[in-house]
Amino acid sequence: MAIDFHAHLDLYPNPFEIAEECAKRNMYVLSVTTTPKAWRGTIRLQGKHKRIKTALGFHPQLVEKRFNELPLFEQILPEARYIGEIGMDSSREFKDSFALQRKVFKHILKCVDRAGGRIMSIHSRGCVKEVISELKGIAGIPVLHWFTGDQKQLKEAIDIGCWFSVGPAMMNRSNSLEIISLIPKDRILTETDGPFAKFNSRPLFPWDVEIVLKGLSDLWKLKLVEVKEQVLQNLKELTTKM
Ligand code: MN
Repeated sequence: MAIDFHAHLDLYPNPFEIAEECAKRNMYVLSVTTTPKAWRGTIRLQGKHKRIKTALGFHPQLVEKRFNELPLFEQILPEARYIGEIGMDSSREFKDSFALQRKVFKHILKCVDRAGGRIMSIHSRGCVKEVISELKGIAGIPVLHWFTGDQKQLKEAIDIGCWFSVGPAMMNRSNSLEIISLIPKDRILTETDGPFAKFNSRPLFPWDVEIVLKGLSDLWKLKLVEVKEQVLQNLKELTTKM
């Protein structure tokens, strides 16, 4: 019974099979969309599986091309319990749209705040500082996915109530391991970001969170079963809060 708190089920070539396999393995999956338009189709992947939840997203890397979908985001928001992925990305490829990304992110956060807050899976590649500053004072619980910030930014994120979902790609770099060791154990969830994210050059599947659980077990010096229990407990805590 494992948790993938940031997966793009709709982007696998065989999404229904992947969802079915997750269900068979009793996995909890947060199935995040990259565009508001993908919401209706992606929600069908949940089927009758209570442990698969769909999150309404608007990926910062797609904001420039899909700007006209912003009203659709607002329209769907009342029925979406989870939001993601949203945020900003300042990597070279997307720097040109950074101002627009910020405008859209701000707008989405304002809508979420007005709607009483949501659990949100947040993308913050290369711009943790800017993302944190936008998140301040917004109702809801941000879960920073694939955190790339430094220790100071981590502390700030923890202080404003952020949670973190960590993936396989963070488990084989010594500097990200150091960051992970500084995250409170009760604010961590596991993720894969599959099929975008790869491990040993193959796309990740939700059940590959096992790689993360093993990594956490080494890092925390706890048995695998204890790590699983902790992360499961965290999910329960998070979903009771919001
Ligand atoms: Mn993602």
